[in-house]
Amino acid sequence: MALRLTNTMTRKQEELKPIDDNRVRMYTCGPTVHDFAHIGNYRTYMFEDLLRRFLKYKGYEVIQVMNLTDVDDKTIRKSREQGITLDEYTEKYKKAFFEDIDMLRIERAEHYPAATEHVSEMVEMIKTLVKKGLAYEVEGNYYFSISKFNDYGKLSHIDLEGLKPGARVAADEYEKESISDFALWKAWDENDGDVYWETDLGKGRPGWHLECSVMSMKYLGETFDIHTGGVDNIFPHHENEIAQSEGATGKPFANLWLHSEHLIVDGRKMAKSLNNFYTLREVMEKGFSAVAVRYALLSTHYRQQLNFTFERIAAAANALERYIDFYNNLSDYKGGQSSGKAEKYIEKMLTGFETSLDDDLNISAALAEVFDFIRDINRLKAENKLSDDERIRALDALKKVDTVLDFLPRDDEGIDAEIEALIQKRAEAKKQRNFTEADKIRDDLLQKGIILEDTPSGTKWKRKI
Ligand code: AMP
Ligand code: ZN
Repeated sequence: MALRLTNTMTRKQEELKPIDDNRVRMYTCGPTVHDFAHIGNYRTYMFEDLLRRFLKYKGYEVIQVMNLTDVDDKTIRKSREQGITLDEYTEKYKKAFFEDIDMLRIERAEHYPAATEHVSEMVEMIKTLVKKGLAYEVEGNYYFSISKFNDYGKLSHIDLEGLKPGARVAADEYEKESISDFALWKAWDENDGDVYWETDLGKGRPGWHLECSVMSMKYLGETFDIHTGGVDNIFPHHENEIAQSEGATGKPFANLWLHSEHLIVDGRKMAKSLNNFYTLREVMEKGFSAVAVRYALLSTHYRQQLNFTFERIAAAANALERYIDFYNNLSDYKGGQSSGKAEKYIEKMLTGFETSLDDDLNISAALAEVFDFIRDINRLKAENKLSDDERIRALDALKKVDTVLDFLPRDDEGIDAEIEALIQKRAEAKKQRNFTEADKIRDDLLQKGIILEDTPSGTKWKRKI
């Protein structure tokens, strides 16, 4: 089955037809490393992780590029306030970003180009745009002339009627109401301190929109398959990327444009500027695991707004627990008589999972298939109507969908061995009727998020979700 996705450009579902048959090239706008990212940002990266993993599930090779914006109005202002270099300032937040995505199990992209490492290519692109009459200079600043690019507005479907000739905007972010020529290059001024590049265009720095045009085409070619971001990127950022790229090459830029809706709080976008945000670290300090946050961010369709509450994370943790318990209990099950039904349940789940995600990444339907399967197999198991062979096939099916979902615990051999040793020590203590010591071991482990369960076949442990 083919994957169909909603293209913001045409506002229709379209079939993905990769330019190189089996390889999908995609660009995903990345973070501005001026602060810790909040979980709203991670909602967008989580949607891209689902897309990427599902493409791989379907057998595609994926080449994903995500930029790191390490120079812009905000990073410059904040590094100057702290009296440190731009590099020193952004390094801390780059590191935090990678730690967060690893904890959230957002798979790493193939390339993470940084804006500051691509300034010479950006200068070349501006020169091309000037040569083509699409860009002009005013007092050392370079602007893109949107009235010269006929297709301006085709992604965001904005009306250019009210456009004032000659209106210009230098800020990186602005509203639809202030649609105007935008800055490709900003001449140095004293607010920039020691952040500047000496180039053929003079002393200055690039505008934000330009970096994504330059770095996407450098790593993915002039035309590639998929471009994604959050809905707030549609205008002006992606509209401007199209103008710059197609203006420079005369070729289509990206074939499919996908945008994820926001994570919202009390009806408003989670945003630094509204001070209604949580970082991943803050949510984890409330006792939730990063995987529970992963579940919560992943489980709502990408084109629907997702309302953030701690109850939602708690509900995600519960669902996750059912999923993981199913896997663990099935792993321990000894196997009974076959009723001949398991195969049907496995087939239904695998087919349903894929067809749901083929339908514009309908994750809720895909998860419903998985939980139906868990219920059905659990029933067979409870009735002892699952053979050992069927048990293994059911486990394999769950592992297969888990290459997309990535909810199952990861073995950490070092830590696992440590826990096993403590369980052993506790058993010894109990034998010697030293219950104080035994309880202390149990409590210490609980503090570390490890729950012990005494069963007839010995002590089992699991991680708190
Ligand atoms: P920024 O660092 O502000 O450039 O944002 C990085 C990415 O996060 C962009 O793709 C934004 O669209 C996305 N983003 C920002 N806020 C939210 C939110 N509340 N919900 C979902 N995505 C968001
Ligand atoms: Zn971008």
